[in-house]
Amino acid sequence: MMVKSIGLAVLAVAAALAQQGGQEGGLSAERIREHTKFLSSDLMEGRGVGTRGGQLATEYIATQLALAGAKPAGDNGTFFQSVPLVGVETQPNSTLGAAVWGKGVDLKFGDDFVGVNGTQRPDTRFEAETVFVGHGITAPEFQWDDFKGVNVTGKVLVLFTNEPPSDNPKFFDGRALTYYGRWTYKYEEALRRGARGVIIIHTTDTASYGWDVVRSSWGREAPFVKVGPNEKALALQGWVSREAGEKLLALAGKTVDELLAASEKPDFKPIDLGIQVRAHLVSKIRDLETRNVAAIVPGSDPKLKDEAVIYSAHWDHLGIGTPVNGDSIYNGAIDNATGCAVLLEMARAWASLPQKPKRSALFLAVTAEEGGLKGSEYYAAHPLIPPAKTALDLNYDALYPWGRAKDVVITGAERTTVYPLAQQIARRLNLAISPDATPEAGHYFRSDHFSFAHVGIPAFSIEHATEFAGKPAGFGAQAYQEYNSKHYHQPSDEFQPDWDFTALEQAAVYGFLLGRDVANQDKLPGWRPGDQFHR
Ligand SMILES: [Zn+2]
Repeated sequence: MMVKSIGLAVLAVAAALAQQGGQEGGLSAERIREHTKFLSSDLMEGRGVGTRGGQLATEYIATQLALAGAKPAGDNGTFFQSVPLVGVETQPNSTLGAAVWGKGVDLKFGDDFVGVNGTQRPDTRFEAETVFVGHGITAPEFQWDDFKGVNVTGKVLVLFTNEPPSDNPKFFDGRALTYYGRWTYKYEEALRRGARGVIIIHTTDTASYGWDVVRSSWGREAPFVKVGPNEKALALQGWVSREAGEKLLALAGKTVDELLAASEKPDFKPIDLGIQVRAHLVSKIRDLETRNVAAIVPGSDPKLKDEAVIYSAHWDHLGIGTPVNGDSIYNGAIDNATGCAVLLEMARAWASLPQKPKRSALFLAVTAEEGGLKGSEYYAAHPLIPPAKTALDLNYDALYPWGRAKDVVITGAERTTVYPLAQQIARRLNLAISPDATPEAGHYFRSDHFSFAHVGIPAFSIEHATEFAGKPAGFGAQAYQEYNSKHYHQPSDEFQPDWDFTALEQAAVYGFLLGRDVANQDKLPGWRPGDQFHR
């Protein structure tokens, strides 16, 4: 009797576990730990783009996806989508100058200006008229247009980054930065308008970081998606320091403060500066061969399986670089071995489901995130599943293995029709949804999900937790500060044996349930009406 009832109880527990396993595929913190440990080991040499370590890491990811039972979704029946990038390094002998009525200024690369030749040629010279276009924004939904119909074809646009300041949530989303405020948008809008180039006048306020950050990130080789033979590109994507900006504007009898003030008025009109700029850009150009890793678990519905949910995480990190305390391997354990580990565990769980969801799931480890989201940008331009048939992208980038999470951060989810479901699943898992602590920093535009959003796919990241169980209040914020100031993009972002991966398992379970429900629902999700990325 006793034995029998224990037997029954055991059976009941086993059945409950099996059901849970069936629901969540038995996602395991331990497996996430082991993948993280291997991918961030010194053997991987920091997973640099175009390096042996990068080749090894992608080979490992592909092998694990194959072992999980996912099918190859890359080129020619492989797990790889090759991503041809071009490394462009502007050389210090490049020059930028301006002249009017015989007066002129010559700017020095690095100290005064930085920039890249978007046409990816080793040697480019050009002269062009300049026009000041405020923030360079056309945003009909906020009744804002800095161009006012003025033709800027062939001209160099001079502008400030960021957007008109606002506390009104209906005007440029209040304090939060919209995509219009990002410098990448400025270059895109200029290209759409046929401009020759762009010069952003840096101010610490408008950029939210100092000139040293601009200088160091633009002063070295950066990867770009290769420009096609008939594709248009800007001859100059540039920045000048505030001081250099003053010198330039002085030629037109203007000051930075005066133009900043003008750019904040809704009736702003482009100002012809009457200055001719002269640029000579010398660039070191080389091909960078790299790859995304792609695997699919086909859906069970004969029709809906053409559509898919994407899970993404970038595999690349900074490789081997300048030694810090004698260590030159930038292991990138948190950034982003953790996200890749979650991706692999998710693929294993999905592939092991006895009954597959209706839509397919694509597991995508993308390259060259650290160089500006280039692997995901390439994917968006060369999608394996058409964007119109892609339900959702859930991205994982840098998760914190510091115990059991009390919350989940899914900034951007509220812009999509997935949000009510995202809230429901958070409640079911006892996780609070925490807001973005610094919306003005525009983090939404700085991780791979954004490349998908940019082509209309509802997309957001499942970010690191900010509150942990059993830890004092403020622990999360303090640990974040500590990581960010000491280990972020440093060789010390290394695997630690005492890390507790529970929060990563929770983030995996959360994304798994969300993706599975989206894969089974009748309609494809979308953006909220009126959203900037509405398709
Ligand atoms: Zn990073």
